[in-house]
Amino acid sequence: MTHNVSLRPYNTFGVEATAAAFVEVASVDELRAALRQATRPVLVLGGGSNILFTQDWPGTVVRNRIRGIEVVRRFPHRLWVRAGGGEVWHDLVLWAVRQGLGGIENLSLIPGSVGAAPVQNIGAYGVELKDVFVSLEAVELATGHLRRFTRRECRFGYRDSIFKQHEKGRWCITAVTLSLTTDRHRLNTSYGDVARTLASMGVAHPTPADISEAVVRIRQTKLPDPAIIGNCGSFFKNPEVGPEVWENIRQQYPNAPHYPLPNGHIKVPAGWLIEQCGWKGRRVGNVGCYEKQSLVLVNHGGATGQEAYALAQAIAHSVAERFGIALEPEVNVL
Ligand SMILES: Cc1cc2nc3c(=O)[nH]c(=O)nc-3n(C[C@H](O)[C@H](O)[C@H](O)COP(=O)(O)OP(=O)(O)OC[C@H]3O[C@@H](n4cnc5c(N)ncnc54)[C@H](O)[C@@H]3O)c2cc1C
Repeated sequence: MTHNVSLRPYNTFGVEATAAAFVEVASVDELRAALRQATRPVLVLGGGSNILFTQDWPGTVVRNRIRGIEVVRRFPHRLWVRAGGGEVWHDLVLWAVRQGLGGIENLSLIPGSVGAAPVQNIGAYGVELKDVFVSLEAVELATGHLRRFTRRECRFGYRDSIFKQHEKGRWCITAVTLSLTTDRHRLNTSYGDVARTLASMGVAHPTPADISEAVVRIRQTKLPDPAIIGNCGSFFKNPEVGPEVWENIRQQYPNAPHYPLPNGHIKVPAGWLIEQCGWKGRRVGNVGCYEKQSLVLVNHGGATGQEAYALAQAIAHSVAERFGIALEPEVNVL
């Protein structure tokens, strides 16, 4: 355990914040030992790619480094893979596609750790973690008890789970088990970008590895690399609005992008709403809205967490004024 540690290297937005105490753990036993000594509150950190620090952390930051990938059960046409919570998510995807396994190829290049993936039910290009999720193991921060959570118990939703709701801040996810296909893959190429990129690669009958490669190429052209320009991906969730709100938008903007949902609501891309309010590519001090995707806030260098949060609030305010829609952050603002 070390004290007064800068968290700047540990968050992809690259903002400065200090942890009163900091420890890295490589096993469940090390985690339990750390929890016995930890000053409270405890924050579990993975890759820091979905966190914005707006202040110092007064207690202990536990960085999850629990590794390991193993096949734990085999079935006809699929198998279960258990991965340590401290594994890098994209390394797990690459491992899977190298084995010819299907199910997580659309989630290629999402930054962060395996242990954080269930927290917001990561998703991209028509696939969400919940589609392949079997169960997870987690240690309760208050007691050190290890518990298993099934898919149903995690109550996954759009960028949501119980770990962002009433179980928030109570657990460290130490392992995740996924069900991946060995053949008869159910590949998802429904997103136009994916289909177009596969075509440009000359691939007519894609494998999981081809889709992974296509997704990596798309993401590298569209999203800022945190190693070059600090960011934490999409700052806001895409809002779901009722038919009346949608009708108002449609009358003003007949070509507005939208996705009807089974519950009668309509999902409207937050990036489009933000762009209509004139924020795309705009810079305010050291922070700004990314020029290619206005849903991503970026650190132009030396930004503070408060500065980034103030920009997020200003953006949310203008969307609320113009469209009557309250944007909800996807990022964990601390
Ligand atoms: C460029 C970029 C692109 C992105 N694209 C996507 C995308 O397409 N889809 C998507 O869903 N997300 C995306 N994200 C967001 C982010 O990558 C995911 O949310 C990722 O799962 C966060 O992992 P992490 O390890 O960095 O989590 P952290 O940022 O370290 O933590 C996030 C939250 O989870 C908690 N947490 C972390 N680890 C654990 C654990 N082991 N147990 C319990 N709680 C834990 C933390 O306390 C915190 O509340 C993107 C981010 C960036 C920077």
